[in-house]
Amino acid sequence: MLNIDLHCHSNVSDGTLAPAAVAARAKAQGVDVWALTDHDELDGIAEARDAATALGLHFVPGVEISVTWAGETVHIVGLKIDEKNPDLAHGLATTRGGRAERALEMGAQLAGAGIPHAFDGALKFVGNPDLISRTHFARYLVEIGICADVKDVFRNYLIEGKPGYVPHRWAKLQDAVRWIRGAGGIAIVAHPGRYKFSELQLHAFLMEFKEAGGAGIEVVTGSHTVDQYDVYAKVAGAYGFLASRGSDFHGPAESHIELGALPPLPRSVTPVWHDWNL
Ligand code: AMP
Ligand code: MN
Ligand code: MN
Ligand code: MN
Repeated sequence: MLNIDLHCHSNVSDGTLAPAAVAARAKAQGVDVWALTDHDELDGIAEARDAATALGLHFVPGVEISVTWAGETVHIVGLKIDEKNPDLAHGLATTRGGRAERALEMGAQLAGAGIPHAFDGALKFVGNPDLISRTHFARYLVEIGICADVKDVFRNYLIEGKPGYVPHRWAKLQDAVRWIRGAGGIAIVAHPGRYKFSELQLHAFLMEFKEAGGAGIEVVTGSHTVDQYDVYAKVAGAYGFLASRGSDFHGPAESHIELGALPPLPRSVTPVWHDWNL
């Protein structure tokens, strides 16, 4: 059986490794089919594809788009996208647009909470000036010893109701799906088990996603518990969604889930790669 990992990050967004280094690590971990899915960015794809091709690793160009739906942030993964598609590139540029300003505000808020210089501190961890994220602030808070690790940061800082949280309006669900499909890609809901939706809200969200042209959901992901694999396999069946598998790897020191290390998809689902030429 092929080892397929369709969700991870490089330092073009908030991962710690360069795209070529992620490719090498995926290969070393036994991955056969690999997608790079940086947040709101396509700039790592060329390097990732070249490295993967040289290693004999089947490469799938991807992206993870930040979306605001009903006031909540959700992530939509696009797979098999054409990274040269101008509408997708433009949409992502717009989505990234507010990040620098948001980061300055985050820094000011943290300063008010007694943590000065957080903006400059976060910048040291940024690989792409267009994509400063909460993860980079989290790494700085760990560096200066305020928190034990990144997970700990996201319990006490940078989340709603805690210091350093600045709400942000991301792309619209319908736009994100349209950009992905317009670029020849497949739209997948990332880690559906992570959102704080009621059952009714989740239903409304999935229906809207499907109506917009969304095709699938992640079932086996580093963001789900083992119990959630079965929960979302059933959801995929109920809604007629394809199922995806991805580690959501961000880096060796941080990710508890290694590239390619998750269990296979449950047998009941139709994998998103069911009709790919693998
Ligand atoms: P942003 O897009 O700037 O809002 O940053 C979101 C990123 O923060 C996600 O892609 C994750 O990498 C990271 N993140 C969010 N929540 C957590 C968490 N509970 N534990 C670890 N990382 C998190
Ligand atoms: Mn991330
Ligand atoms: Mn995500
Ligand atoms: Mn991700």
